[in-house]
Amino acid sequence: MAENRLYEVLGVSRNASDTEIRKNYRKLAKECHPDKNPAAGDKFKEISFAYEVLTDPQKREIYDRYGLKGLQEGDTGGPGTDDIFSHFFGGGGPFGGLFGGFGGGGMSRHGPRRGPKKGENTVHRLKVSLEDLYNGKVSKLQLSKNTICIACGGEGGPPGALHPCRTCSGRGIKVTITQLGPGMVQQMQSRCPACDGEGEVINERDRCQTCLGRKVVQQTKLLEVQVDKGMRDEQRITFHGEGDQMPGVEAGDVIIVLQEKAHEVFTRSGTDLMMKKSITLTQALCGFTTVVDHLDGRKIIVNHPPGSVLVPGCVRGIVGEGMPIYKNPFEKGDLYIRIEVDFPENYFAPEGKLKELEGLLGGRPAAEEIPADHEEVNMNEYDENGPGGSRGHCYDEDDEHHPMGGQHVQCAHQ
Ligand SMILES: [Zn+2]
Ligand SMILES: [Zn+2]
Repeated sequence: MAENRLYEVLGVSRNASDTEIRKNYRKLAKECHPDKNPAAGDKFKEISFAYEVLTDPQKREIYDRYGLKGLQEGDTGGPGTDDIFSHFFGGGGPFGGLFGGFGGGGMSRHGPRRGPKKGENTVHRLKVSLEDLYNGKVSKLQLSKNTICIACGGEGGPPGALHPCRTCSGRGIKVTITQLGPGMVQQMQSRCPACDGEGEVINERDRCQTCLGRKVVQQTKLLEVQVDKGMRDEQRITFHGEGDQMPGVEAGDVIIVLQEKAHEVFTRSGTDLMMKKSITLTQALCGFTTVVDHLDGRKIIVNHPPGSVLVPGCVRGIVGEGMPIYKNPFEKGDLYIRIEVDFPENYFAPEGKLKELEGLLGGRPAAEEIPADHEEVNMNEYDENGPGGSRGHCYDEDDEHHPMGGQHVQCAHQ
């Protein structure tokens, strides 16, 4: 049972000439160009694939003899080539749809829909603020990309203008043989410089005026990146097939990688938010009320009632005031507030007030018993150079029990 689908896709007969195939491809490529007709994306992939096979004499021969199956078995292409086969075969197992109907209705609706050869993906990093990740946002991103030239349908010139490269006999590869020694040769393969590895060239005078024979033109494209509520740092947003276009190659994807910018107030941990709040000792002991400006502009009043003490470094949580959960933004994580207590620097209470404060605070342990045999020291400021910045302050020079030159008290280094 002869396979005919690739010919049908291009609307040519089995014995169509190369020129005829190229001509029909160009006509169809214009009609189905994704930029002109986004709905015809699949069709474009199909004709690109058919074109790729039928304009390659070796592949065409294999296809004529063995059909798609033969191509698939002989396929040494990279990943992604299998996908076009499953695409043609209808997706029901490797050969499930082999003889099924071709065209829209019979096409597979499963699995990745990638083309014959897949182009490189383009990766862009997009910086987003925590506010954007909280509220969601549409970011406009302008990027320039190669698109198939509409004027020549990606052929680079009029029909027949393209002919096999003479330098490499259409193989696209240059083979250099170097004699290394008697009976020893080194064979090196490189991309043919005359055709840039394409295997085909166009005479200068035949070149398409629009793309100058390059088959593609540069275009600026505006992408609207939908940053959804709750998205995370490093999250990827993929625009399928928006990468550079090339004839016979399916365009790669444009992948946007989100980069969360640091925020002045909040630090994010998954779906939770963390912030620091400095309060005074009085607030820590006597309670306070503060206003937090949230990421969506709401003012949140945070109350800490008097009577329960906040110790330095303690963490308090507010349920449901964290980040929205991705794809479920009405649910939110929690907000945690780490309390830092600013102690008064030097507290000199008026006469008698310290006793009063002590009375209020309480909690002074019973005085420790001072042994008769003791040494007395003062505590000083401590920095990297030791207490008070020099050893001299380490012991009390006025201490009558330990005059200078007597028994020294060692600095307590830690
Ligand atoms: Zn060449
Ligand atoms: Zn052109």
